[in-house]
Amino acid sequence: MTPESGLHDSPPPLPRGTRVDFEVECRTSPDSTTGERHTATLLEDWTVLTPHDLEAERVGLAFGGFCDCLALAQSGVRVAQRWWQLSTRHEVPEIAFSPVHGWQPSMTTACACTPAPVDGSPGLRFRTAIDARAHETSSLHLAARGNARPHHARALINALRPVAIDVAPARRDWEPVADRLREPDALKVLWNCGLHPARVAELLDVAPGVTGRLPASFPLGLAFVPDRAMPRRHEVARQRDADLATWLLWDGTAPDPSRPFESGEWLGLGLTPRQCQEMLAAGITATLADELAATLRQPLEDCVRLLLQRPPPGVLPELDHLLAGARAKRDFSRSTVSAPLDTRSTDTPLLDASHQEISHGDPHAH
Ligand SMILES: [Zn+2]
Ligand SMILES: [Zn+2]
Ligand SMILES: [Zn+2]
Repeated sequence: MTPESGLHDSPPPLPRGTRVDFEVECRTSPDSTTGERHTATLLEDWTVLTPHDLEAERVGLAFGGFCDCLALAQSGVRVAQRWWQLSTRHEVPEIAFSPVHGWQPSMTTACACTPAPVDGSPGLRFRTAIDARAHETSSLHLAARGNARPHHARALINALRPVAIDVAPARRDWEPVADRLREPDALKVLWNCGLHPARVAELLDVAPGVTGRLPASFPLGLAFVPDRAMPRRHEVARQRDADLATWLLWDGTAPDPSRPFESGEWLGLGLTPRQCQEMLAAGITATLADELAATLRQPLEDCVRLLLQRPPPGVLPELDHLLAGARAKRDFSRSTVSAPLDTRSTDTPLLDASHQEISHGDPHAH
């Protein structure tokens, strides 16, 4: 399968034989927030079967009639198609990293679906690519983007989730790509950021001169730091050193290319690259700064200023305590998954999860 970015005019059909029953609230008017629940069925060609005669309802529309399920079958389905393309990673999410704003989804100013940016600033921004993607692929955001009713998007997406899990690629089929990456879990992290292993392979091909393994931040930068990555493609192509190639993509925005998420978090909080480097070298992440703010009941900004003075051990016992805790449970994935949104329950799990593991967590699976 070939992942492609951008919108498809006609999305591919669902897996052969797909027939998912789901419940939907059939609202009584465009403004109503309640309605009777009834069953609907989504078929492999994206047709939705409902208890209504939708053709007749369409005609009735001209005479002032209203049938909520007309929108379910039209705008609702369009949103579900977009979600399907994003969940199967056939389309790359429209998220982007900027040193000023951090990780942002599309429509950061127009989207009113989540009023809670991480640091109280205006506009949507997130600590990690995974968080930004979780927002970008949420039913609320997709409904806002697609002018669909959120309860339609939610019902269809929830119905499709098990189908998406069934078609997720297995990691064992992509070992050759995993072998080109430095971190053992890089393929999984990149999947969680919205990149299909096939897409990752294409991105790695942009640096044919590099002899060693590239870090996950290389494909990540290429995909999501487009302003910097595009003009630098030729320069990147000539590089032999993996770290230098990666640094070029981030153009100094990722002071520690081996830890792009943590670097991005700090940069998102306004630190200079050098300050980021110092913080990461000292084992202090933005997550930890957050925890310190909670412990001290101080604004995050004040804590960041405090941390920039790099207090020696003993001066700030709360910090010593948090650092000790962080050292005890240091885990690459942990810092990338903490989220203002619940990513675990909404995302298609992937890659190194065996089928049993997936089934175990899903009461509906067989
Ligand atoms: Zn209905
Ligand atoms: Zn949104
Ligand atoms: Zn089932």
